[in-house]
Amino acid sequence: MSDFVAARATPPAMLQGFTPEGLLVHCEREGFAVGITIDEARKVIAHATQRGHDTGRDIANVRRHVRDEVFANIGVGRFELVERHASSVDPFVKYVFRLADGSLIETVRIPLHKEGRFSVCVSSQVGCALGCRFCATGTMGLVRHLAAWEIVEQVRYVARELREEKLGRVRGVVFQGMGEPLHNVEQVIDALGVMSHPCGLAIDARQITVCTAGMIPGILQLAQRAPRVRLAISVTTARRDVRRSLMPIEKRYDIGAVLDAARVFQKANGRMVMLSFALMRGVNTSLEDARALSELIGTGSEDPLPVRLSLVEHNTFEGSDFERPDAEEYQRFVDELMRLGVPVVRRYSGGGDIGAACGQLVTEGRDRGASATLQPES
Ligand code: SF4
Repeated sequence: MSDFVAARATPPAMLQGFTPEGLLVHCEREGFAVGITIDEARKVIAHATQRGHDTGRDIANVRRHVRDEVFANIGVGRFELVERHASSVDPFVKYVFRLADGSLIETVRIPLHKEGRFSVCVSSQVGCALGCRFCATGTMGLVRHLAAWEIVEQVRYVARELREEKLGRVRGVVFQGMGEPLHNVEQVIDALGVMSHPCGLAIDARQITVCTAGMIPGILQLAQRAPRVRLAISVTTARRDVRRSLMPIEKRYDIGAVLDAARVFQKANGRMVMLSFALMRGVNTSLEDARALSELIGTGSEDPLPVRLSLVEHNTFEGSDFERPDAEEYQRFVDELMRLGVPVVRRYSGGGDIGAACGQLVTEGRDRGASATLQPES
């Protein structure tokens, strides 16, 4: 976005933010480790990202000047775990990491249905500029974008812990932590490349979900440069006036135009787009909301957008104006959606007791720092 500046700069690149191919280009451009081969680059990246080594001393079959120069010029980034909260009601774990500039970010370990398989909910920014009214992170404003390596390192940290505790493996990643990932699209696309690369974290790209509030340029970038990942759009309501009051981004990108961009992505990706709805009592659960949504996705038309609707009940946080709907209100909404032919999935959002549920991640008060908020175009 060109009309605002994050309060702090994104830190320099570290090795965990590179694919082998990206490292070759970087070395050539910066003029070090001249002549590095793709095979050497693969070994260097696997050494730093998979095995987590800080130096190149014990990499086999990489020429000495190459490994010395790469590690001297780029290095391996680290951040510090300052809090770790395991839920007492479900097997979720929330981590709070302190970055090199003192910023705090949150990451959540999510158990999947099959035992021994986990997903990691990652942050992509410190804070967020979009200011959605139902989201704790939105109250912080944007402090800064994360570098690609800082996004990758959250997953690597959790994967290493699972390995050491012999609990299982990371099989998926979801960009639903702090920040709007497509507002930081360049670093996010670099991180996606490393996460899914066999020399990086080797996670199947189809198991990585990028969730956006509706940044159209980012969706189109993703369609071109990372079409294998899954796209999820936080719709919240298809009633424009209500959406504008809840999500300021609607003033810039109309949800109808967002779904047009989602259609471009869906054509490149071939799978259904996920639409997510955080249900709030008396706000977005009316029969009118159900009908507006059905109209938006063109249910029953000749060419409906292939979507799956993921319903999650709003997770409240201190200072939130909203509550979750009661069972009757929820069921009435679902019944109307089903009557209209909208495919619905009810999603469990765990970790509520540790503030790890969707929309609850916030580090305000511990490290707010200066921040900026996106000003939608009038
Ligand atoms: S819901 Fe997402 S986009 Fe909206 S303020 Fe929260 S983190 Fe930002």
